[in-house]
Amino acid sequence: METEHVVDLLEMLGLPSSASALEPCLNEAARQDSTYLSFLTQLLEAERHVRQRRSLETRLKLSRLPQQKRLEGFDFKYQSSIDERQIRELASLAFAARKENLIFLGPPGVGKSHLGIALCMEAIQKGMTAYFTSMDRLLADLSKAEREGQLERRWKVYRRPDILMIDEIGYSRLKQDTGNLFFQLVCMRYEQGSMILTSTKGFGDWGDLMGDTALATAILDRLLNHAHVVNIRGDSYRMKERKKTGGLFTPAPPLEQNPILISGQN
Ligand code: ADP
Ligand code: MG
Repeated sequence: METEHVVDLLEMLGLPSSASALEPCLNEAARQDSTYLSFLTQLLEAERHVRQRRSLETRLKLSRLPQQKRLEGFDFKYQSSIDERQIRELASLAFAARKENLIFLGPPGVGKSHLGIALCMEAIQKGMTAYFTSMDRLLADLSKAEREGQLERRWKVYRRPDILMIDEIGYSRLKQDTGNLFFQLVCMRYEQGSMILTSTKGFGDWGDLMGDTALATAILDRLLNHAHVVNIRGDSYRMKERKKTGGLFTPAPPLEQNPILISGQN
């Protein structure tokens, strides 16, 4: 009877997990002859645990990460151009707390998205928020919002998260108006929030990519002012997987072993 009243009170006060944990906590306290304080601690910790787990799940869902990738699943030995220590340091997320940017450059398949997503997951686990999109999706979304007079509302989505990850820069060239939208976004997040970008194009090619050298310079000026750049040179990991499974596609030998190139040299 008394217990029911306390359960009602806990629920009314917005502590539903404590309400359901009350009975087992009471039994445990009686069994262990606990103090009042240790009983109360146990009850409130049950509440906190459930809340933290729920908040983590919500942040993970809202991040729109396309897959779950972890640093533990990354084979650093395969990609020797990556400094593992640098990635481990980045995983402390101090860069995100300082609102700095992180840019992964490199050819397809070398692990840019994997590392970016893994760092977003680390951030989410540490209580931060992240939002994932691709460059194409971002620009299509902003253009549509602009046409429909909804731009102000959409900016909020990209301004709010602690980390905004924009994947796959460099696959398609920007048009004048989308270039301007990207510039506005970069200005908006400058020193306000961290960005993780991945690109197959080196910075020297961004003028061509943005279709406007002056605009690209202005964008890079802001992006790179507080930034960490991880330049990955190496073979696609997908290639390794294909080799292992004996796929039909055989990659070209490395340059120095390529007989055509060697015979072409003088
Ligand atoms: P990128 O974004 O550079 O094109 P991805 O990160 O998408 O490449 O990597 C392609 C696939 O290979 C993904 O499934 C990724 O998890 C995996 N992968 C890439 N590099 C590694 C690595 N060094 N260790 C383990 N898996 C890797
Ligand atoms: Mg990728």
